[in-house]
Amino acid sequence: LDHYFDQIRKFEHLNAFNEVFFESAGQQAAEIQHKIDQGTAGKLAGMVIGIKDNICYQGHQVTASSKMLDGFVSPYSSTVVQRLLEQDAVIIGRLNCDEFAMGGSNETSYFGPVKNAADPQRVAGGSSGGSAVAVQADLCLAALGTDTGGSVRQPAAFCGCIGLKPSYGRISRYGVIAYASSFDQVGTITSSVSDAALLLEVLAGADDYDSTVSTKPVPVYTALTTGSKKYKIAVLKETIESPALDPVTREAIEAALVKLKAQGHSIDYVSFDLLDYLVPAYYVLTTAEASSNLSRYDGVHFGHRNMEADGLNTLYKLSRAEGFGAEVKRRILLGTFVLSAGYYDAYYQKAQKVRMLIREKMDLLLQDFDVVVSPVAPTPAFPIGENTEDPLVMYMADIYTVLASLAGIPAIAVPLGNNPEGLPLSVQLMAGHFKEDVLLSLSESFL
Ligand code: GLN
Repeated sequence: LDHYFDQIRKFEHLNAFNEVFFESAGQQAAEIQHKIDQGTAGKLAGMVIGIKDNICYQGHQVTASSKMLDGFVSPYSSTVVQRLLEQDAVIIGRLNCDEFAMGGSNETSYFGPVKNAADPQRVAGGSSGGSAVAVQADLCLAALGTDTGGSVRQPAAFCGCIGLKPSYGRISRYGVIAYASSFDQVGTITSSVSDAALLLEVLAGADDYDSTVSTKPVPVYTALTTGSKKYKIAVLKETIESPALDPVTREAIEAALVKLKAQGHSIDYVSFDLLDYLVPAYYVLTTAEASSNLSRYDGVHFGHRNMEADGLNTLYKLSRAEGFGAEVKRRILLGTFVLSAGYYDAYYQKAQKVRMLIREKMDLLLQDFDVVVSPVAPTPAFPIGENTEDPLVMYMADIYTVLASLAGIPAIAVPLGNNPEGLPLSVQLMAGHFKEDVLLSLSESFL
């Protein structure tokens, strides 16, 4: 723990943490040390873990990196935090992220951007940018993030870490600040596959507080044997061949596939003709859900309150106008629009149908193949400020990650070394519903 505290001080300029829990982490470490001496410590004893600042931890602040929740102290712990604590992980602090997890570069945070440790002029990725940089720069052993449309996988890719988004319904969302509830999942950012397996084993499984969690038994992910099984791998042709894809990323993915083929896995290039619909469907549906989820921040029940307002409506208006940042407002407006009576059928319902098509198409593909491969993002980490002018450019960069989110299937970002500028490269693997074991076992072959 002292090592990580030193590292955190040394790398403060990266802005990864919104708060370090010096006191509670220190106390926890002392108690766990005692349990270790007694031989009664849990599975995660010795693991020092950071949590994204949209995950509730009793008695600690949680802000979703928004002015709206600045100073809010959570009265209860999320199920994921509860499970970490039960297994004696030390929770070292809360990590910076995009405001309400809306963004792909960690530039929408009220507390400023997180900087990539590979090049502090560049973004960490987002929205779980703090989580990725904390693992990248060795500020903690592993971190929790949340992934609605790529927020664990893309920052992990930009920082050279392993980012796992489990199947929708694998991990409880209880106590996780909602963005788009039919997409949101807690995921892990780690520097080894075995840490990802261990954390998933602890976090996954039924929860009385979240009825969307599956009651499927949780496999012993840590007992996975790698190497022996040969997988059928499909590469999404249009994603790899896209002119928008950075050529060095393409070469790195192709080289990795050659290596896998030599190990005895089969590789086929398959076509996916719904690519153009992914980003539009994702942004219609997630903004609709966000506009509903964020209506609770009204200056009365939660969060920032304007003190000068002279009536209820002005109180709502001013509190929300002051509490939310520009990107969150944009999404609330867009979501309210697509849900409004005159446009519901044209946008929201249409997008629901498109989601169904995408899901069916992926399910079909995953009947023939064990794993589907694509890039994580079109480029490696880009310079801070480069994409902030045009939100559409930023949204389009989510094209490869939102596929698994729309389909509800698990996906993982696996590092593929660095480009000549020293920026991390990455590949994404997707598998069928609840086939996290396949992802974990194949990921090892890439490393
Ligand atoms: N970049 C995507 C968005 O802005 C993904 C965010 C996320 O997964 N939380 O919606």
